[in-house]
Amino acid sequence: MGTPSDIKLIDENGLRVDGRTPEQLRPIKIQTDVLNRADGSAYIEWGGNKIMVAVYGPREAYPRHTQDIERAIVKARYNMAAFSVDERKKPGPDRRSVEISKVISEALQAAILVEQFPRAQIDVFIEVLQADAGTRIAGLTAASVALAAAGVPMRDLVVGCTAGKVDGQIVLDLCREEDNFGQADLPMAILARSGKVVLIQMDGDLTTEEFDRATSMILNATKRINQIQREALQGKYIAEQGGE
Ligand code: ADP
Repeated sequence: MGTPSDIKLIDENGLRVDGRTPEQLRPIKIQTDVLNRADGSAYIEWGGNKIMVAVYGPREAYPRHTQDIERAIVKARYNMAAFSVDERKKPGPDRRSVEISKVISEALQAAILVEQFPRAQIDVFIEVLQADAGTRIAGLTAASVALAAAGVPMRDLVVGCTAGKVDGQIVLDLCREEDNFGQADLPMAILARSGKVVLIQMDGDLTTEEFDRATSMILNATKRINQIQREALQGKYIAEQGGE
């Protein structure tokens, strides 16, 4: 974060570095069943982000001492490929990916009917192939589609978006330049129907009015994103009924 004064993120027509209006989302595409060996999978392209998700389980939790006798444990692992960013990212977990894995696991846990699967674990692998800001939310949004595609019983889909502040303005769905040089970044995810907040984080500073504006922009956008999730899942069921 930080705003070098020579970087202008909103032009004289009110448009952003990639030509979007303040409340415009980047293009989003979701496809299910892209991996044969996973129980469920989804691939998402969200702006410049490209992310693959594979779901395995519910299956007996191992090692056994990690089992919860009352519910399944949800283990999401967020990983950025070495080639996903401009400069090669050192492979393996770092503080950021451990944190993101934890908040995504908790958000998914709130959506899954974990009490139906005591002693089980559900693994969710989120592989970021290309990163362009908003990867935790794009990964989480795709992960809930992959879980549904795997037939894991869920209360609801998890859907999210990011908003932030650039050049003093609140805008939806930050791209990389806006994330790097903007003044605030607020990723948030909810359960689609109930609206329950399952992930919220903030980097930077917002006034309470700005915070309210950012969250209402996000909530509005989640309706459109949830529609894309449902269309992706319907596509799956149409394909299955078609006897492929
Ligand atoms: P999110 O991807 O959820 O927005 P961050 O705000 O931490 O998470 O990261 C914003 C963006 O910064 C990422 O999407 C990615 O484009 C870039 N980025 C993150 N980590 C690295 C890294 N280790 N090297 C280069 N770029 C990175």
